[in-house]
Amino acid sequence: MSGLNLQHVTKQFGTFTAVNDVSLSVPDGTFVCLLGPSGCGKTTLMRMIAGLDLPTEGTIQLGGADITTMPTHKRELGMVFQSLALFPHLTVGENIAYSLRIRGIAKDMQKKRVEELLAMIHLPGFADRSVNKLSGGQRQRVAIARALAISPKLFLLDEPLSALDAKLREAMQVELRQLQQRLGITTIVVTHDQREAMTMADTVVVMNKGEIRQAAAPVDIYRRPADSFVADFIGQTNLIPVEADSAGRARVLGQAVEGLTLPAGTAKGVLSVRPEDVQLTTPGNGTISGAVTFVRDLGGAIETFVEAGGQQIIAVSSPRSRPEVSVGQQVGIRLDPTTSVVLAK
Ligand code: ATP
Repeated sequence: MSGLNLQHVTKQFGTFTAVNDVSLSVPDGTFVCLLGPSGCGKTTLMRMIAGLDLPTEGTIQLGGADITTMPTHKRELGMVFQSLALFPHLTVGENIAYSLRIRGIAKDMQKKRVEELLAMIHLPGFADRSVNKLSGGQRQRVAIARALAISPKLFLLDEPLSALDAKLREAMQVELRQLQQRLGITTIVVTHDQREAMTMADTVVVMNKGEIRQAAAPVDIYRRPADSFVADFIGQTNLIPVEADSAGRARVLGQAVEGLTLPAGTAKGVLSVRPEDVQLTTPGNGTISGAVTFVRDLGGAIETFVEAGGQQIIAVSSPRSRPEVSVGQQVGIRLDPTTSVVLAK
C-alpha cells in the first residue's frame, strides 16, 4: 500500500484525549488540509505523522512501511512548521542546502540543487543574499525550498502562511498548490482557515474535538456537509430545524417544502441552506413567510437578513439580480430542495 495511512490513531495527554481514533488514507501525490477550530487536535495529529509525538494507540504507515515509532530524521520528510525558522546567520543558499550538507552531498551537487530550487520558488540569483533582508513571502518560499531540498516522501506544513498579510497569503496559497501539483509531492497542511483549505486541497479533513467529522473534496464538503458542525464551519450557512409531517413531507418553519424529504424513519433534523441558495420572493404561494430585518450591501454581494418563525435566515444575491427589498418588508422564502441538505444533527 502506498501513500500515508493512519489506522485508529489516538493521542492522550494524561486523561485528556487530543486525537481520538483517527483513520485516514492519503494517496500518493495528493494535497490534504487538516482543518478545524483551535484545539481540535490538528497539530497533534501532524506531530505524530512527523514522529515528533508518539501515538497512544494506532499505527501510521508511509509507502507501506510502519513508521509509527520511527524517528523523525529517518522518515524522509520535508517540514515547514511555524517554529522552524530559517537560520539567520546563513545565506539563502546555505539555508536551502542545509539538509544536503548534513547528508554529505558534494558541494557542486548542492549548488546545482539550490539553483534548481531557487528557480522553482521564483527567486533565481538569491543564493548569496542574507535571509534577514528578505520579505515575509520570500522567507516563506525559502523555508519551502529548504524543506523540499532532499525530495522528501512527504511534505508537512503547519500553518505555513499564518504570519503573512491577507493578500500575500492568498497569492502564496495558489503558489504552494501549483508547486505541489508540479512536483506531485504528497502534502499535508494544517490550517484553521477554511478558504485556505478550499484553495489548496484535494481533500479537506475537517476535525473537531480530536475527531474527523468529514474528509472529502472541497466542493463536497461545501455542498454535502456530513453534519451541522461541518456545514457551519465551512463557509456561511443557515441551519434551520426540519421535521416530517404525518404524510412524510418535510416541514420547515411551518411550511411544507415541495420535493424535500427526510431520510426514512427520521422525524426531525436540521436543514443546511447556503445563503446563495435562499431565494426571496413575494409572500404566499407555498413560500416561508418572513420579514426583512437588515440589508447589507457589500459591493460584490448583497446580504438580506430575514426573520421567519423566530429564526434568522440570511440570503445572498449578486447586485445585478438585487431583489427590491427594504427593512420591514414581508417576503416569501423559497428553498430549493436540490441545494438544501438535510442533516441528522
Ligand atoms: P491550534 O489551531 O490552536 O494550534 P490545534 O487544532 O492544532 O489547535 P493541538 O495543538 O493539536 O490543537 O491541541 C489539541 C489539544 O491537545 C488542545 O486542547 C491542547 O491543549 C492539547 N495538547 C496539545 N499538546 C499537549 C501536551 N503536550 N500536553 C497536554 N495537552 C496538550
